[in-house]
Amino acid sequence: MTPLYEGKAKRLWATEDPNVLRMEFKDDATAFNGEKKAQFENKGRLNNAISTLIYGFLEKEGVPTHFVRQIDERNVEVKKVDILMVEVIVRNLAAGSFSKRTGVEEGKVFSQPIVEYSIKSDALGDPLVNDDYIRELGLATPEELAFLRASALKVNGILSDFFAKCGLKLVDFKLEFGRLAEDPATIVLADEISPDGCRLWDLKTGEKMDKDRFRRDLGGVMEAYEEVLQRVKEATA
Ligand code: UDP
Repeated sequence: MTPLYEGKAKRLWATEDPNVLRMEFKDDATAFNGEKKAQFENKGRLNNAISTLIYGFLEKEGVPTHFVRQIDERNVEVKKVDILMVEVIVRNLAAGSFSKRTGVEEGKVFSQPIVEYSIKSDALGDPLVNDDYIRELGLATPEELAFLRASALKVNGILSDFFAKCGLKLVDFKLEFGRLAEDPATIVLADEISPDGCRLWDLKTGEKMDKDRFRRDLGGVMEAYEEVLQRVKEATA
């Protein structure tokens, strides 16, 4: 069997239902647009467990997502979607590429969250774009983009409170959205929500509990993901 799609961290497989796919979490880790690569035993299992709990929580909070059910440690069932080629990033504190681009020190708290967009393209290096680019590139209509922004801010509110209960600061995160295969007018949250795509800092110690441990060679990458899972489990119990 060959997957329908293989990305950097996941594979998508067909199921008997044409509107449902199986999403498999791999142990592969990449950073800096795929330039830095590694494998971490258990990463797929940990991200699947974390993402499944968070998607369940978001659904309960009224956020429509692609999530159907967890199959096993590595796999979930998701509704088939056509992924929008726009990545939506929400930032509560300065970090990462924001700090690099602006010179603002990591950790500066914004008065209001920043929402930004990039084109989902490894070949182009996920370039930062604005509303006008997205309209002219035909990546989303202005109405759809307004929906993406409102949804991202809603998710930010829900997840900031949620992670605070976990003793974690939600610094920034990336979301992807897709049009449902069975109803393309409906856009839902897709992809995964895990320490691969969120910056999470321990509220007490400021310690990084996310993929920056891999990006910056801080060590203890899977230990941090495991700790995030334990806290997310407690907060959703
Ligand atoms: N992010 C991601 N995939 C990307 C780019 C960013 O998941 O292709 C996440 C990243 O983990 C962080 C947030 O989005 O939580 C903001 O990332 P940033 O733009 O600072 O880029 P980076 O530091 O990853 O280059």
